[in-house]
Amino acid sequence: MREELNQGLIDFLKASPTPFHATASLVQRLEAAGYQRLDERETWHTEANGRYYVTRNDSSIVAIKLGRASPLLGGIRLVGAHTDSPCLRVKPQPELQRQGFWQLGVEVYGGALLAPWFDRDLSLAGRVTFRRDGKVESQLIDFKLPIATIPNLAIHLNREANQGWAINAQNELPPILAQFAGDERVDFRAVLTEQLAREHGLNADVVLDYELSFYDTQAAAIIGLNGDFIAGARLDNLLSCYAGLQALLGANSEETCVLVCNDHEEVGSCSACGADGPMLEQTLRRLLPEGDEFVRTLQKSLLVSADNAHGVHPNYADKHDANHGPKLNAGPVIKVNSNQRYATNSETAGFFRHLCMAEEVPVQSFVVRSDMGCGSTIGPITASHLGVRTVDIGLPTFAMHSIRELAGSHDLAHLVKVLSAFYASRELP
Ligand SMILES: [Zn+2]
Repeated sequence: MREELNQGLIDFLKASPTPFHATASLVQRLEAAGYQRLDERETWHTEANGRYYVTRNDSSIVAIKLGRASPLLGGIRLVGAHTDSPCLRVKPQPELQRQGFWQLGVEVYGGALLAPWFDRDLSLAGRVTFRRDGKVESQLIDFKLPIATIPNLAIHLNREANQGWAINAQNELPPILAQFAGDERVDFRAVLTEQLAREHGLNADVVLDYELSFYDTQAAAIIGLNGDFIAGARLDNLLSCYAGLQALLGANSEETCVLVCNDHEEVGSCSACGADGPMLEQTLRRLLPEGDEFVRTLQKSLLVSADNAHGVHPNYADKHDANHGPKLNAGPVIKVNSNQRYATNSETAGFFRHLCMAEEVPVQSFVVRSDMGCGSTIGPITASHLGVRTVDIGLPTFAMHSIRELAGSHDLAHLVKVLSAFYASRELP
């Protein structure tokens, strides 16, 4: 079970280099399990026990397993996560030709840890919008091959490198894609036109625009002398998306279960498809009872917002409160912040703890040091839009927002087990 889940996650990460691809990966797995697409532009016809999903911007998704009875009876069980991760995005007019090298200008998306992006074998993926036969279409592309790199500067040319080296994102991050002998001009859109033909057999007249980001081609892997760890890009937060998906696919209860995975969390969630936008509420309004029954249903419901936590690092243990240092492979972490950076309260935390105890899943607590600022996630944002009770939880990881993060190889199974119990729970508090 544990090995199978970890391998499933490794495959999911590989297929999901961008939020667009993550959403497509979720769609593929949901459809294989009988979930049907609901088009936001059409009238919906849904029935009790039906399984559905909705996407927006190709990068956010809400999957719904309707219950046997009206959700007004027992509320709905929601699990939330996010599809995006910090990365380097290609600029609109990106071509750079310097010193005989062809490079692409990039913009930093989210709070990326930049140093690990150097000396990696990078590929490129995302969404391309183009014109074909007079019509505007979009298509996801993934170069898959290592087509670029950002080489470090040799330490001989920067003796201060190990004493703290500030990285100038404008000057130092453009990846190198090729070398040129002459002074030929390169056209990035022409490269994309070729890729559309090669990958999808599409003959675009012209590439109009794109949202493309670089990613590390090194696949996620189980590592460590005893296989204790799983290393990979985008564990924040595809780890939670995958755990939520597995729990939903296994959900066999009479209750209404929802999985929402939003884009744009890493940049504040404020977008049409982000958690600070209307997507989830608009979807639920079309599926749940109307009027005061809508509010009554939501007030009986609960959201488990799953996003990774910071495990206590042996080399930097003083970055944690001594009583709140979550350990890798010691189960999900309940995240608390009295300033509402996390939406957890004693009732929702207590319920999550109760679920873990019943499932014999270990559970931990995190609160940030009192002299440090606290991160946040979709939990408080979704809670303030829907007015739904929420608990913020997540698996402990190291190197959050690095191009290669680290989690415990035992923890995914823990999280899937407790989320499955949540979806199956007959009564919410
Ligand atoms: Zn996150």
